Amino acid sequence: MPLKRIDKTPMPERDAGLRAHDFQEVNEGYDFSRAEFEAERCLRCQDPVCIEGCPVSIPIPDFIHAIAAGDMPGAAMILRLANPLPAICGRVCPQETQCEQLCHLGTRFIPVAIGYLERFVADWERDQPLGQAPALPQRSEKVAVIGSGPAGLVCAGELARLGHPVTIFEGLHATGGVLRYGIPEFRLPKEILDWEIGLLERLGIEIVCNIIIGKTITLDELFDKMGYSAVFIGTGAGLPKFLGIPGENLNGVYSANEFLTRINLMHADQFPEADTPMKIGKRVAVIGAGNTAMDTVRTALRIGAEEGIIVYRRSKNEMTARIEEHHHAVEEGVEFKWLTNPIEILGDENGWVTGLKCMKMELGEPDESGRARPVPINGSEFVIPVDVVVLSIGNNPNPLLVKTTAGLETNKKGCLVVEENTAETSRRRVYAGGDAVTGAATVILAAGAGKSAAQAIHKDLSQTVRPTSISSQPV
Ligand SMILES: Cc1cc2nc3c(=O)[nH]c(=O)nc-3n(C[C@H](O)[C@H](O)[C@H](O)COP(=O)(O)OP(=O)(O)OC[C@H]3O[C@@H](n4cnc5c(N)ncnc54)[C@H](O)[C@@H]3O)c2cc1C
Ligand code: SF4
Repeated sequence: MPLKRIDKTPMPERDAGLRAHDFQEVNEGYDFSRAEFEAERCLRCQDPVCIEGCPVSIPIPDFIHAIAAGDMPGAAMILRLANPLPAICGRVCPQETQCEQLCHLGTRFIPVAIGYLERFVADWERDQPLGQAPALPQRSEKVAVIGSGPAGLVCAGELARLGHPVTIFEGLHATGGVLRYGIPEFRLPKEILDWEIGLLERLGIEIVCNIIIGKTITLDELFDKMGYSAVFIGTGAGLPKFLGIPGENLNGVYSANEFLTRINLMHADQFPEADTPMKIGKRVAVIGAGNTAMDTVRTALRIGAEEGIIVYRRSKNEMTARIEEHHHAVEEGVEFKWLTNPIEILGDENGWVTGLKCMKMELGEPDESGRARPVPINGSEFVIPVDVVVLSIGNNPNPLLVKTTAGLETNKKGCLVVEENTAETSRRRVYAGGDAVTGAATVILAAGAGKSAAQAIHKDLSQTVRPTSISSQPV
């Protein structure tokens, strides 16, 4: 077996010592020779199981073959038709647990670097002059999409392609959802996000910011007053969870959502030039070990923390962050306190954080999540001196829309309940997808949910209303 079948072509990345202090992107991307070499590793299987691992069903071997054949326009077209966010997904998708996990090459060697190749093609496309916007069918039934995260964006894009006039209503002053306010610039540059959203806007999608559905206008008004025929809810899971331990109200305690939003969206690290202030800690403890926790602790280092510490009650084996994110955090000097459970946040007489009181844990039998249950070790209390604590222990959907809309069924976690095949909620012609349905999950799952909901909406609307495209008009 030649060596090229075994090794994955490495992704060039910036030196950890340099990058840990700025927000420039960590991964540098393949050049053509690396991409071609990696593309040649693909076996073009008769049974391309990699596609089954992709929630938007990208024809993976086809786009990889096009790279190997030097047909970059072809590769770009195959990719973009299946996934309107390839430059984003090529950067942030957990491919190692999706398409790459199923790749046949991975049964004996290292899987094809599908994500790196996706990013390469999308970045190539970005350097090309824009062609004409595609001519699309035109239908009369307009659809409202609530939320401009990946679920809403992909749903809107697919509906526009199918001919529906679409308006996205976004509560914040900027689009993108977590892609903009959560995932930091050093993993997902905002110019990439702007570019992919710009391509969707070229399909004719209207985006209206600063409108909170359920507050500015209600969901019912979208139907009754504004004449929308269907609504897609892609409002995400932006309500942070808290631990309920003493000291959570002290100054210098943030949820990861608030911490990242203040930096990514409001540029609080540049206060007073920016309007939003925040406490820039010297020793920052981040509680949790998912992707959000890694983003938070690495951001804390970049805005001036001397020490960034991850505090997690289980061991490294149970962390939910991507291996690559953990690896980058280690390289950048993040300290990890595994099997450590916070029990109190300590403060001074002025109400500012001074430390995090913790207990050491050991692993017991698996819990309902299937992961080993952390069990406290008696008498193991100790204090980590810190001046900022960030909680990154998960999010639930925001209840606002459900509280202001009659008849929307939710489960115990506050997630919207939808019909499996159509993504329709308990309200007729109201559909939902992404984190609002699954709870905090991934970009590509949200994108996949948006895409299939759009197809279900189109099918539903097509069964009752006739198209009004120019070709169907009587002459
Ligand atoms: C810091 C962080 C890092 C992450 N890293 C990764 C990663 O590396 N890879 C990965 O795959 N996933 C990652 N995720 C998860 C991923 O970002 C989410 O699963 C995904 O963004 C969910 O998409 P969504 O469209 O359902 O919701 P969101 O992205 O949350 O978007 C929802 C949008 O709806 C808007 N909205 C909410 N309510 C209303 C309302 N009533 N009216 C109008 N607008 C409203 C919100 O303002 C928001 O813009 C990360 C998450 C975080 C927080
Ligand atoms: S499973 Fe792997 S080797 Fe086979 S077609 Fe997909 S990417 Fe290529």
